[in-house]
Parts: sequence; structure tokens; C-alpha cells
Amino acid sequence: MSKTIFEMIINKDIPSLKIYEDDEYIAFLDVNPKQKGHTLLVPKIKQKNILEESKKVKESILEVAIMISKILKKKLNATGIKIIINNGKSSGQIVFHTHFHLIPYYDKKVKPINNEEVLNKILN
Ligand code: AMP
Repeated sequence: MSKTIFEMIINKDIPSLKIYEDDEYIAFLDVNPKQKGHTLLVPKIKQKNILEESKKVKESILEVAIMISKILKKKLNATGIKIIINNGKSSGQIVFHTHFHLIPYYDKKVKPINNEEVLNKILN
């Protein structure tokens, strides 16, 4: 079976702007951000979506999503954050490898998004 784009990122076959990684998860900036700091949190073991996920991932992914969301909020001075999971084509899922969208929101208008600059802000 062909690899998903996220498996290629996990395997480092293609680059990503990574903000977090541990044994089970990777998080990187979305190439097509809806907002400044739009991040994808992805389990390293591929399942099609959250409905198919292992008990282990179901029990830990929200904890990781919240931890990263707090970092994004703090580092980017966001005032809110949306956590979205699309499951199935008709719901808007394009990449069939479980992922959470972590999308920061701001009270003030923010400058046009440059993902490299955003990465710098998050990591420093
Ligand atoms: P979904 O519609 O929930 O499947 O979302 C898939 C997301 O993956 C979209 O927001 C895309 O912009 C994002 N995406 C696709 N390819 C890449 C990539 N190479 N690096 C980062 N994000 C990606």
C-alpha cells in the first residue's frame, strides 16, 4: 500500500516544519494554514482516522493535543484555539492518516502568515 504524506514526513522522506516529536507522535505546521500557527498532530502508527484508532492513541492523544495547544497559545499570543478532527471524505478528510488540527485564533488581526517565522516563534 502506498504511504500517506504524513508517513513520508514521519520517515523524513519529505521535510516538515516540526514543532514536536516523541516516540508516538509528531506535530508540524500545516502547509496550507487556516490561521497563524495551524498545526497538525499525527500519531506515528498509521490508522485511517480516529474512529479506527488504537486504545493507546485514544487514551493519550488529547493530552498531547492540549499540551501543544497551550504552547501554541502562549508562544503566538493566541486568545483561542480550535481542535478539529475530520473523519471520512465527506467530512473534509483529505489525508487518511489520523490527525488533529490545532488552529490558534487571535483577537487582533495578524500579519500574513509565514510558516518559517511562526516556527521560529514557537521554538524560541
Ligand atoms: P484533512 O482535510 O483533515 O485531511 O487535513 C489534511 C491537512 O494536511 C490539510 O490541512 C493540508 O493542508 C495538510 N497537509 C497536506 N500535506 C501536507 C504537508 N506535506 N505538510 C503539512 N501539511 C500538509
